[in-house]
Amino acid sequence: MPNSSRKVGSLFVVATPIGNLADMTYRAVETLRAADIVAAEDTRHSRKLLKEYSISTTMVAYHEHNERKQTKYLIGKLLGGADVALITDAGTPLISDPGYRLVSAAHDQKVPVVPIPGCCAAIAALSVAAIPSDRFVFEGFLPGKSAARLARLRELDQEQRTLIFYESAHRIKDTLIDFAKIFSLDRTITLAREITKQFETITKGTLSQILQRVTDEPNQQKGEFVLIVEGYHPDKKIDADTLRILDILAEFLTPSQAAEATAKITGKSKNLVYQTGLTRKSEKSSD
Ligand code: SAM
Repeated sequence: MPNSSRKVGSLFVVATPIGNLADMTYRAVETLRAADIVAAEDTRHSRKLLKEYSISTTMVAYHEHNERKQTKYLIGKLLGGADVALITDAGTPLISDPGYRLVSAAHDQKVPVVPIPGCCAAIAALSVAAIPSDRFVFEGFLPGKSAARLARLRELDQEQRTLIFYESAHRIKDTLIDFAKIFSLDRTITLAREITKQFETITKGTLSQILQRVTDEPNQQKGEFVLIVEGYHPDKKIDADTLRILDILAEFLTPSQAAEATAKITGKSKNLVYQTGLTRKSEKSSD
């Protein structure tokens, strides 16, 4: 049968577990079994999952280093009538994971794209964080280098929606240290570590408490992490002690220096202290 008369296949974007293999959905199993090809980020890693559920579908590798070539190959297969299921090592494809190029090309070629929803570490963490979840921003991974990370955090300091970050074991402590340079130390944070795995730990506290725990307990630096950070509250007023320190320092230092020193002493956000300092200065000069 010539290709042109064949029905076009569908691209299934399938979520897989983020640690506990039992979190696979029935529909995900059925979809992977019925597909003609499973496109997996790491075929060796996913073989374990497919074996667990007796899925014998042919796998091909689809990852960030072969995305361009494999997109062409897989779109060819889809247009030829094959059903393709896209999976990554953990959770939902395209969420800090490969797949964008393939899904985008499928839309361009009018290939039906079908989500098979399931695990996502960000959403699992948010669901247990007890930090407002009505409006949130997913930031994924912060830049690896501290200067770029601090610049990004500065941009986010006054974001009022809840912030969600992904982090790995080798950077969790440095990232929390950088949080403490930008955000006020009394911001509420929930650290979700090793979700659904043996050493799952969900800790809610102030930024200073979370940093203290991660620093004191090396085990808390191991594994995979989601950080849920309370948004900035413009109406969060500075307490009387902080105001007193700011007023004294403002007599001897520039507004920026006074704010920086006050923030260091009290753990409040430098931005918040600085804005308060400017308001007080203009109030005083208009008296
Ligand atoms: N696509 C995945 C999802 O839907 O969540 C995310 C993949 S991303 C490459 C991997 C990052 O997700 C990890 O570094 C960590 O920040 C987070 N993550 C994945 N599994 C996790 C788990 N079981 N516990 C905590 N964080 C996890």
